[in-house]
Amino acid sequence: MKADAGRRYRLYPTEGQAERLTGWGHTCRWLYNTALEQRQFVWRQRKTTLGVTAQCAHLTEARKDFDWVADLPAQSGQQVLRNLDQAYRNWWNPQHPAGAPTCKRKSARLSVPFPGQAIEVRRLNRRWGVVSLPKVGEVKFRWSRRLGGAVRNAVVSFDGVAWHVGFGIHTGVTTPEAHARPDTVVGVDRGVKVALAMSDGRMWNRTFTTPGQERKLARLKSTAGRQETARRKHGATTSNRARKIRAQVARAEAKVRNRRRDFVMWAANRLCAQHAVVKIERLDIQAMTATAKGTNEKPGTKVRQKAGLNRAILDKGWGLFHTALDNKARTTGTRIARVPAAYTSLRCSRCRYTDRDNRESQAVFRCGSCGYEANADVNAAINVRDAAEVASPLTGRAVRDRNRKASCRPPTQRRPRTALETGVSRR
Ligand SMILES: [Zn+2]
Repeated sequence: MKADAGRRYRLYPTEGQAERLTGWGHTCRWLYNTALEQRQFVWRQRKTTLGVTAQCAHLTEARKDFDWVADLPAQSGQQVLRNLDQAYRNWWNPQHPAGAPTCKRKSARLSVPFPGQAIEVRRLNRRWGVVSLPKVGEVKFRWSRRLGGAVRNAVVSFDGVAWHVGFGIHTGVTTPEAHARPDTVVGVDRGVKVALAMSDGRMWNRTFTTPGQERKLARLKSTAGRQETARRKHGATTSNRARKIRAQVARAEAKVRNRRRDFVMWAANRLCAQHAVVKIERLDIQAMTATAKGTNEKPGTKVRQKAGLNRAILDKGWGLFHTALDNKARTTGTRIARVPAAYTSLRCSRCRYTDRDNRESQAVFRCGSCGYEANADVNAAINVRDAAEVASPLTGRAVRDRNRKASCRPPTQRRPRTALETGVSRR
């Protein structure tokens, strides 16, 4: 398997460049959403699929009519349309976990894609490099790590805190046949209290905010909510003050997100470097973090408590940890194995006696049969290490199909059936 990589660097555009890039980011989102709507419309009307070539032709027309569309570099616009096409193909691919493409929200991260032909990367000195982008010219970025291969493309993005440039790198490296340290197996238990507990007794945890930062974020969010309610009530436009608060919320949230990502990547990196096999529980995170709200006729119970647990689970970044493990494993040759999650926290790892009372508290495990005492999370991690592997991992798609609910925007386009499925051969 190829182990190509993405490399992300902090970008330092000048004020003028940043302003222009921001405009392009919004244009890209508009383009993506419009193209998606167009494809959905055409499918509803004519039951045909609008291809990326046709949409690129439409984009050329739109560029003649609107200056602000023409301002976006043509290659970037085409890349947005190709990305949408890829989103559709992922959805149609039964092996791929992606669901139907959805609209990009205004609150989403701004990003502008550039294909490889449109950009050029040059190193200035030990600390700095520049990337030449069409129309804005050279933009400085902090050369914080080596590129490690040929640059294939770039995405410039703004997450509320800072600008970044991400390069798609062709490393020329393939996944090694065997891990450098064969026969090293580790079980990992993901918890709410301690983020990661390993079967060898290690426990990794990190908090991403201080209580003060949490209070500040809560205050900002409540202000933003109040402003939004008032704005809607009076049908007003967003005030500059509300915009400012919103930016502060985005900034605070982005910081937490960055810290979480750093922890998760660090952990995945270490686990894959040190072990030939990493075993984790097969958890259905989407189902686990489903809301307990229920329906109007049948309201759920303990909704607030469940919401708190959901937040705790999502806060630890379990889903991201999965992705990070799978990605890292491609460069180290590690095998990521999924095991059934049932009873791992209640079973004694020494005598396999399983009982609810074994779990003395959140932290302490004491076996009611053999008296084995251990940290509850480490005991669970040992169970994960010793459990038999499940053959087929539960992919995101399987999860979604099982929990499919009526969404506000139902998918309007299904995967075209193959000749095999329809029983009709095309001549
Ligand atoms: Zn026991």
